[in-house]
Amino acid sequence: FGEICFVGRSNVGKSTLLNVLFNKKIARASKRPGKTRSINFYEVNRKYYFVDLPGYGYAEASKKERQRWALIIEKYFENRAHQIKLSILLIDCRLFLQESDKMFLEWSEYFQVPVTIVLSKVDKLNQSELCRKVREFEKQNLEVIPYSAITKKGIDRIIEKITSALQ
Ligand code: GDP
Repeated sequence: FGEICFVGRSNVGKSTLLNVLFNKKIARASKRPGKTRSINFYEVNRKYYFVDLPGYGYAEASKKERQRWALIIEKYFENRAHQIKLSILLIDCRLFLQESDKMFLEWSEYFQVPVTIVLSKVDKLNQSELCRKVREFEKQNLEVIPYSAITKKGIDRIIEKITSALQ
């Protein structure tokens, strides 16, 4: 069983994206996700998992809260890195990279898990703002897919990415 994991700060649009993917029928999820204390595993098409990692708080989240999140993610990588085919890190297009986002990118690199950044809610930006934002990421050699659940922009690219990662 390979798996694709989804992560991002709270309110970034992660549940909405998962619902879009399930509705697109690339993924027929089992009715009840397997659940550990804070991670949801959706068995998909009886072949792989979509893993819904816990969201992290806002910048002002307590240090203790951030450490708790970090520990969950670290354990997850340690236990399952060999079967994670792709991490999808969602970042709100209007916000800057947060410490937790950076930490996640570092772990992915350390465990050699490929990452795709999904820039969410791009319906909130105009064309030139969006171009500038995408360039910021590309300058750091980070692949980014601009996405909006409202306009459906980027969905096909996300699906393509997932499908090829699972092959
Ligand atoms: P989660 O906490 O990351 O799971 O975020 P949700 O999927 O629950 O979304 C948080 C809020 O953002 C909800 O009010 C959604 O309706 C809204 N939202 C999600 N995706 C988009 C998007 O692409 N564009 C806009 N404008 N709002 C979105």
